[in-house]
Amino acid sequence: MPHYICPRCKERSVDIDGREGFSTDSPACRHCGFGFLFELLDDYYPAQATGFIVCDQDARVLATGRGVFELTGFMEEELMGRDVVEALHLSNGEPVQVVREWGVRKLGQELAIKTRAGLDKAVTADFFPAYDDDGGLLVALTPRAS
Ligand SMILES: [Zn+2]
Repeated sequence: MPHYICPRCKERSVDIDGREGFSTDSPACRHCGFGFLFELLDDYYPAQATGFIVCDQDARVLATGRGVFELTGFMEEELMGRDVVEALHLSNGEPVQVVREWGVRKLGQELAIKTRAGLDKAVTADFFPAYDDDGGLLVALTPRAS
């Protein structure tokens, strides 16, 4: 049974009634109305402070969810279209490569980002591949004590 998560409000949903699957496009969030849901193979429980970043197949930012601004200081429009690794100065871009090349999850990566103000911030990063034809990936950033 596919699991879905809304990148914007982090509301999780399960395709119980099969309704989500009928649409060729990704279904919209029934909770906040965001344009699409991200499909996950297994359920995932984001933390309160987790922020999601949706990227295309070239790892460029398509959208950011609730919590990303609090975490990074960047507004969505400042990140859109930018390479996620470069824009946030991810201390290790390898998980992004692995997820894109192999289509596997990379969870619990202890990385650092640079906030808009230029401060280093320790995060736990989870990376999920997209399962639709467009490819792409979902990045979940959660602050951690460094
Ligand atoms: Zn939502």
